[in-house]
Amino acid sequence: MLDKKFLEKIRERLIAEEKELVGDIAQLTKQDPLLIPERTSAKIPEFVESARESQAAEEIDKQKKLLEERLEDTRLALSKIKSGKKFGACESCKQEIDRARLEAYSLARYCLNCEEDLPPEEESA
Ligand SMILES: [Zn+2]
Repeated sequence: MLDKKFLEKIRERLIAEEKELVGDIAQLTKQDPLLIPERTSAKIPEFVESARESQAAEEIDKQKKLLEERLEDTRLALSKIKSGKKFGACESCKQEIDRARLEAYSLARYCLNCEEDLPPEEESA
């Protein structure tokens, strides 16, 4: 069984991570060139501007999605800790996930064995 002290450590880490992720996402949103109102006053030719911007926007969008997924996983892990029981149990075989694995990767939802058997996650386009 995972002891309270260990869970508390993980919980604190997750809360810090959640805060950081929220901040990062907000930062990225601010950087999105398509959302910056001053862009219309830029002096570079429009076609260069839009090509560059859509590329940058795409990149930001990709990063944001990754962060949002992680934020979701972080919140899921936190809610598991809060509810007390499921955290640290493999979602597939229900066995307890190795403590060292949880320490290294607190968002782990599967034990190492099951993780290896899982099909690789689909690329969300
Ligand atoms: Zn498992």
